[in-house]
Amino acid sequence: MALSRRDFLKLSGGTAAAGAVGAGITPQAAAAQVQVPEARIKGASETKTICPYCAVGCGINVHTKDGKVINAEGDPDHPINEGTLCAKGASLYQIVNNDKRVLKPMYRAAGADQWKEVEWDWALDEIAKKIKDTRDRTFKFLSKSKVKEKQPDGTEKEVEKEFTVNRTDAIAHVGSAALDNEECYVLQKWLRSLGLVYIEHQARI
Ligand code: SF4
Repeated sequence: MALSRRDFLKLSGGTAAAGAVGAGITPQAAAAQVQVPEARIKGASETKTICPYCAVGCGINVHTKDGKVINAEGDPDHPINEGTLCAKGASLYQIVNNDKRVLKPMYRAAGADQWKEVEWDWALDEIAKKIKDTRDRTFKFLSKSKVKEKQPDGTEKEVEKEFTVNRTDAIAHVGSAALDNEECYVLQKWLRSLGLVYIEHQARI
């Protein structure tokens, strides 16, 4: 006899109920005997956070036990994602539990073939020194460009003109999809004040 999925469920439910009644057990008592697997996050602490990957800013509940992250899932109370997460957000706990995670800044000197761990203070000082040095060496106040200029006889002629530019072409900045409006605003102010023109944005690199 061919059984559909629905037929199979009906039949097995009926058989179980009949078996329970036959054995003198009520369906309620039979249900109470069903072994419910223990929740994976039982006894864990829950911390609410925001996904660091992109500016959608989904809310995430992170579960920790014995100082270790054991689970991360969408926060159902969060107004943006209402419990959902994209694949990147859903795999968030793998960032923490990952032996490939880089925990300190790494530095590879010019010409060296190895990276070495350095302290944050040293790394930030080096970055600041290199930005200042590069900017000082390459800052341009003026730049020449060809423009079309109207002549007295009504025709146009291409001429070279000098413009004030106050910029450096030697430093570029790649932003982050995780930055919010306010952070982008402050960052733009800072980068433009340094004279940067190559300002880009990463999304899901
Ligand atoms: S990466 Fe995915 S889960 Fe994270 S904020 Fe963006 S959309 Fe939400």
